Amino acid sequence: MSATRLLLLGPPGAGKGTQAARLVARLGVPQISTGDMLRAAVAAGTEMGRQARAAMESGELVSDDVVIGVARERLAQKDAQEGFVLDGFPRTVVQAEALDAILEQTGVKLERCVAITVDEEVVVARLLRRAEIEGRTDDKEDSIRTRMCVYREQTEPLLAYYRERGVLAEVNGEGGIEEVALRIEGGLS
Ligand code: ADP
Repeated sequence: MSATRLLLLGPPGAGKGTQAARLVARLGVPQISTGDMLRAAVAAGTEMGRQARAAMESGELVSDDVVIGVARERLAQKDAQEGFVLDGFPRTVVQAEALDAILEQTGVKLERCVAITVDEEVVVARLLRRAEIEGRTDDKEDSIRTRMCVYREQTEPLLAYYRERGVLAEVNGEGGIEEVALRIEGGLS
């Protein structure tokens, strides 16, 4: 049986969201995107949205406490009990440790971390194009550069974290959506 407790890791613009959506359709488990949940909170004008907004617009990370709380609540819901595809969480070692603790409480473990690797110039070009198409408020050049820096400094160490735990699969994220999807399938088997 294929793994159903998955995490997609990669720099902004690596295609995590696109590939996560394909995986959830195939596996029948929910996609859990902290970025989408935080954007919904900002749009709804909740207290948490107000707290998160400035960090998100500048491309900095929202505080670990807030994001861990959001992820814990979502993972506790019924539809996530048989599996999930995490997209955008964890992004720091503190968050990764919190995720392990959350899963341990229900006696389960993360089965696979798929790290999508893409050259930095390629992702910056993709994000600038997405800015034109979708107009996301954090897809401005300054914010994109900040997000890349934050990724390198705070999120990339998670590759070693999951490699040490024997669950890391590294996949080349360059090329077409189908091509990358096939590589990910390979990484899951
Ligand atoms: P991208 O991967 O393109 O940067 P996301 O939608 O995953 O986009 O995240 C958008 C923003 O939301 C991030 O730049 C950050 O401010 C915030 N965010 C999302 N997930 C997290 C997280 N796990 N920890 C801290 N901040 C987060």
